[in-house]
This record gives sequence, structure tokens and C-alpha cells, in this order.
Amino acid sequence: MALNDHDLPESGADRSTTVTEAELPYLRRCIELAAEAVEAGDWPFGSVLVDADGKILAEDRNRESTTGDPTRHPEFELARWAATHLSAEERATATVYTSGEHCPMCAAAHGWAGLGRIVYASSSQQARDWKAEWGVPVTSPLSPLSIQDVVPGLEVAGPVPELAEQVRELQWRARSGSSASDCRRHEHRGLAAKSLPGPVRCRGFAGQTMNWSYFAMCSCSSSRLGLRPLAVRRPRPRK
Ligand SMILES: [Zn+2]
Repeated sequence: MALNDHDLPESGADRSTTVTEAELPYLRRCIELAAEAVEAGDWPFGSVLVDADGKILAEDRNRESTTGDPTRHPEFELARWAATHLSAEERATATVYTSGEHCPMCAAAHGWAGLGRIVYASSSQQARDWKAEWGVPVTSPLSPLSIQDVVPGLEVAGPVPELAEQVRELQWRARSGSSASDCRRHEHRGLAAKSLPGPVRCRGFAGQTMNWSYFAMCSCSSSRLGLRPLAVRRPRPRK
């Protein structure tokens, strides 16, 4: 877990339940870490631990796929790191910034470690909504508890809409196996959503059947990123 001191805001971490302008660089760093995770083949989650003076003490990203360990969430790693390296008082006044709201496992670790406030860029409900929109089945073995369901009374802030949108892009990239810019690798390249008769196979999504919303998402991502729109071409009829 590397220490990192770039993008530090001028003031210390805020203790309120709203996300301040000065805190956004921490969340942006989380999203950078989430992007690194995707590049490495892991899920798009990144987190940083910040002390009461606003200094980043530790950071990590998701490592589930590359280690084969489904508990390798960055929030869990930071809780362990804090329990080992910080006093109880330092933990209580520290803030954890993260790209996505803590899952129940990480919220519990955070609570047991006695860490302070949590600030997230995107919420668990948003992640569930994106999956529902994309037709992705829910695979978590845990109940969908919020942080405060697990750790009552903890100060929590988020989501931040503009950053949540970036997390959504990363989620899409992780699930499609490609960035929006290279979705031409997929078998559905060149096809407009309206020209497709229904679910088809797409290599870019681990061979899983994709539904219509994926195609809409693919085109939308491309245009949102200012890329050239995909050519509209109807599938050739079979002879
Ligand atoms: Zn977690």
C-alpha cells in the first residue's frame, strides 16, 4: 500500500456529513485507483485513508480478481492497515474516502477498527441501479445493508453526482472488458441498438448474453466521451 501525497487539499479532512470542495481531490484519487484496478483486471474500487490534518496515510485498490481473494476490497485493507499502524485516537479522527460506498464486510471492518467518517463518490444503491439497468444479476452473498445499517451513528457523506458518473463508466468498462472507446472489438460493433432483434452474445462481456440496455449504454458512452459514433449497419440476413 503506497503512501501518496499528491492532490492534497489545503485544509484538513472535513468532519461534516456533506462533501466539501476541498475533499474532492481525495475522491478523485480514489477514482484513479479504481481505474488502475480495472486496468489490472480487478473491479473498479479505490480508497484512501486521510488523517485529521488532511494527509493521505494509505491507499489501496480492489484486488479480488488478481489475487483470487474476494475479500481484497480496498476499504477492508485500509481498516486493517489502520488497526496495525494507528492509535485509537488517530483512527477515530481519520476519514476514509472511497470510490464506492463500503459493502457490509468493509463497513464492519471500518467499525471494528474504530475509524472515523466515510466519504464516497458513488453509493451502493447507484451500483445496484446500474446493474439492474444493464441486466447484470446480483451476485453478492451479503444483504444490501448501508454503512449506517452496519455501523450506526457513523458520519457518512456521498454520493457526488459528477464523480459517481465516472465510477459508472469504470463499472461499465470492467464489465464489458473494454473501454467505451474500443467497444468496436465486440461482436455487436457497427450495430445500432434499434437494429438488434434481441439479446446476443458479446465476447467483450465474458461471453455472457447482453441485453438491449448494453447496446444503448455502449453508444451513449462513446458519444459522451466525444468519440466518433459507431457506424449504423444492419445485420446481414442469413442465406
Ligand atoms: Zn467491501
